[in-house]
Amino acid sequence: MAEQTGETRKAIRVIMLGAPGSGKGTISKKLLASHGGNHVSTGDMLRAEVAAKTPLGLDAKTFMDRGDLVPDAVVNGLIAEWLDGHRSEGFIFDGYPRTVPQADALEEMLAERGINVDLVANLAIPFDVIVKRLTSRRSCGKCGQPFNLEFMPPRVAGVCDKCGGPLVQREDEKPEVVKKRLAVYDAQTKPLVDYYTRKGMLKNFASESSEETVTQIEAELAKKKN
Ligand code: AMP
Repeated sequence: MAEQTGETRKAIRVIMLGAPGSGKGTISKKLLASHGGNHVSTGDMLRAEVAAKTPLGLDAKTFMDRGDLVPDAVVNGLIAEWLDGHRSEGFIFDGYPRTVPQADALEEMLAERGINVDLVANLAIPFDVIVKRLTSRRSCGKCGQPFNLEFMPPRVAGVCDKCGGPLVQREDEKPEVVKKRLAVYDAQTKPLVDYYTRKGMLKNFASESSEETVTQIEAELAKKKN
């Protein structure tokens, strides 16, 4: 097997499942730091479209601000386009698929392109922990620096340590919207746990420590690759 510069850098192909705020983004970035490959977040792709005020972004924003999912066809299109541009590269999908129709579409897209997924990692974190994490997130309105009022508070309340800009809360991280997003997760995304369990692809990871979860996922991936 190809090993580079003494370090194992095997391309991994992982689907990260879990409620909003379960740590999918953080854990994906930590895994990719050692494996290389792409962090593919449909949430980030959509926020980029919103920021660029594209027609797709303007349409998606109304769903996102209410905590609803954007239509399946929109995100399936973003992923198809992404896969076409990155056929032979590793990836972690974060926040996609989010519904059974999206999972069916993904299966078809991967099969058409001859791509296999190594693991579906489900982050099973209690809802009360998630609500606290999400509603305490803030970022600087000027430079984007992230903060967390519980775990990484700014030195002066409401002010960015880096540039002095005002801290803001994402529209969809306000308490009412977080509640709605978790209800949407329960109704539309949680069925994917059964979906991938039935296919023998899923493993649950329940630790609240992202380091511990990364170690456990690495161990699972090593088992699969050997
Ligand atoms: P995230 O940052 O992954 O929590 O995504 C933020 C918002 O983008 C979600 O609340 C949805 O409105 C939308 N979104 C992201 N990914 C998807 C998806 N796979 N399907 C539908 N909507 C999505």
